[in-house]
Amino acid sequence: MKELTHFIAGKPVKGASGRYGDIFNPATGEVQARVPLAAKGEMRQAVEAALKVFPEWSSVNPQRRARVMFNFKALVENNMDELARMLSSEHGKVLADSRGDVQRGLEVIEFACGIPHLMKGEYTEGAGPGIDIYSMRQPLGVVAGITPFNFPAMIPMWMFGVAIACGNCFINKPSEKDPSVPLRLAELMMEAGAPAGVLQVVNGDKEAVDAILDDPDIQAVSFVGSSAIAHYVYSRGTANNKRVQAMGGAKNHAIIMPDADLDQVTNELIGAGYGSAGERCMAISVAVPIGEKTADALVERLKPRVEALRVGLPTDPDADYGPLVTKEHRQKVLNYIEMGVKEGAELVVDGRGFKMQGYDNGFYLGGSLFDRVTPEMTTYKDEIFGPVLQIARAKDYDEAVALPSTHQYGNGVAIFTRDGDAARDFAAKVQVGMVGINIPIPVPLAYHTFGGWKRSAFGDINQHGPEGVRFYTRIKTVTQRWPKGGVREKASFVIPTMK
Ligand code: NAD
Repeated sequence: MKELTHFIAGKPVKGASGRYGDIFNPATGEVQARVPLAAKGEMRQAVEAALKVFPEWSSVNPQRRARVMFNFKALVENNMDELARMLSSEHGKVLADSRGDVQRGLEVIEFACGIPHLMKGEYTEGAGPGIDIYSMRQPLGVVAGITPFNFPAMIPMWMFGVAIACGNCFINKPSEKDPSVPLRLAELMMEAGAPAGVLQVVNGDKEAVDAILDDPDIQAVSFVGSSAIAHYVYSRGTANNKRVQAMGGAKNHAIIMPDADLDQVTNELIGAGYGSAGERCMAISVAVPIGEKTADALVERLKPRVEALRVGLPTDPDADYGPLVTKEHRQKVLNYIEMGVKEGAELVVDGRGFKMQGYDNGFYLGGSLFDRVTPEMTTYKDEIFGPVLQIARAKDYDEAVALPSTHQYGNGVAIFTRDGDAARDFAAKVQVGMVGINIPIPVPLAYHTFGGWKRSAFGDINQHGPEGVRFYTRIKTVTQRWPKGGVREKASFVIPTMK
């Protein structure tokens, strides 16, 4: 059995806790490797390696740090096929989607290549007699990122791309379900020229996470995962005086106005609802057609398309999506489908019976479609995170806007319409962090920032873009005076003001 390691101080390090987790091949259902689950000692080893190299790395000039980012980008591009295959084999998403996962992460690396400009401070000359004020952004020190299974390349890069470019040393605790890509990225970062200890990977579960949250030398923690854990990480991390950003789960609605092009909307919903088996925090999971006529026409179009979805091996270029990540996760989605039926929603397409010939033990699931889902249903309130699209019919625009606005999650939302007034009003009113207008998955590009509202994010600062630079630096403001000719002033006992 293949045994993975940690990546500490520039080297693979075997697990020391004696605890391991299984890594499955979701396509076959077999265990393909085991990953060490770190105890406090292994995390501390990484923190000490990071503390050791931080003075050197933080004083490398930003242009040289940017060159490491340029090298890393080239190396990842050269290794794209290997990374995508590795990713698909542990996650189950189709190869083209795995490439997209790596590519979206690389876009943050491209953004981070601009770090000399991004870290520039401000300067006021002559703020008073002989007085100038300037500010500078300085890295925090040792920082950590706890990442989920569903984007094992993109999400670590969201975090470490910016953190490392800013001069920090970053420890990644990836998902124990698919840690091979994060491990490989850490090797490539060293090859790109980052000194040992600048990017490390410590594998593990709750014990490793707690070791991060309680370590006094870790200054900031970035988390992406489910909301209950996000809240836990935020509470414990901030109680320990750390800076914490913790992104959580989602339930993303797509509002369909009666004037929308329904054929186009159907294409968008099929891709955004079922791509990556619905295991995306920006997947569309609820469609909200306005008016019965729009709803009936939409269901009529969606039904045959959901029935025709091609579920396949992650390596099959014709597959729309592959297996789910684990047997437990597949079971959780199955339970939600059963609950939906019991709650009285109408199961228009039932994907539960899907079997992948020759791969009976793989974690496959066909696409399901529910109609007449209502806000009091648990299956509406919860995140399902599987190939299940729910239709919640709204009688008018106001009712449609209220659904995502009052939902516990507020990650992404979309509106499909030809009406500019309605779209503009929607973008201003809806209580959700990321809005798409005729765009089903409005994931902002790397130079903007990513973050939801309500239970989709705890903390104030978003991921990547200028917000990422703010998260991974602190500002220092210097007020200096150089009096002319050594003029002395009397002691003053009142607060200095600018009259
Ligand atoms: P998860 O919450 O199970 O795991 C995320 C991380 O937390 C992993 O590294 C895991 O090891 C760790 N963890 C798990 N249980 C823990 C515990 N009890 N204590 C401490 N740490 C623990 O999430 P997941 O299943 O890997 O990912 C899917 C979830 O992530 C979905 O809810 C999805 O919406 C969310 N997600 C959100 C965003 C976003 O930006 N808002 C992006 C991607 C995924």
